[in-house]
Amino acid sequence: MKLKISTVGESVLRQQARPLSLDEIQSPYIQSLIEHMCETMRDAPGVGLAAPQIGLPLQMAVIEDRAEYHKGLTDLKEKEREVVPFHVIINPRIQIVGPCDIEFFEGCLSLPGYTAIVPRSSKVLVECLNEKGEPQRIEASGWYARILQHEIDHLYGSLYIDRMYSRTFASLENYNRTWKEKTIQESLNVLVQGKKLD
Ligand code: ZN
Repeated sequence: MKLKISTVGESVLRQQARPLSLDEIQSPYIQSLIEHMCETMRDAPGVGLAAPQIGLPLQMAVIEDRAEYHKGLTDLKEKEREVVPFHVIINPRIQIVGPCDIEFFEGCLSLPGYTAIVPRSSKVLVECLNEKGEPQRIEASGWYARILQHEIDHLYGSLYIDRMYSRTFASLENYNRTWKEKTIQESLNVLVQGKKLD
């Protein structure tokens, strides 16, 4: 079942989500919710979906970066973007390793049609439970680390617009027209520094 995705301005996206108990995780309700969240993420399509985005303030998110999403992309290496198999993170604790100095355009299913440059850390450590309630320790880097930071932010009521360089906020239409082919530094020079567009 495809679920309705909450969009910016809905209060659930600004609430702190609550942790799930082991009993809850193993319940038919949460198990079927995971399936529906997976279907909703793939349909969008997106590489992550957090429970608050479907209106539920629960500390749970699904993540998957499929090979088919990478077809035709030329910046996979630069973004250190690799295939991430489908998995569920529940009650995560995140440890940011190193400075948040990696800059790329980022989007969110809850802000459809927009994007902005968001600085993130290239490395994170995440301790969480999986869909069976088993403890997991994830060491992630590159784009996967960005996905984890983005999704776990959702569980604390944060959105990328809280962390973005606000002057780089752009409609996807304008991003595709002007900024997609430019380097991040060129985009920052124009959008943030006010230099002339070449
Ligand atoms: Zn999001």
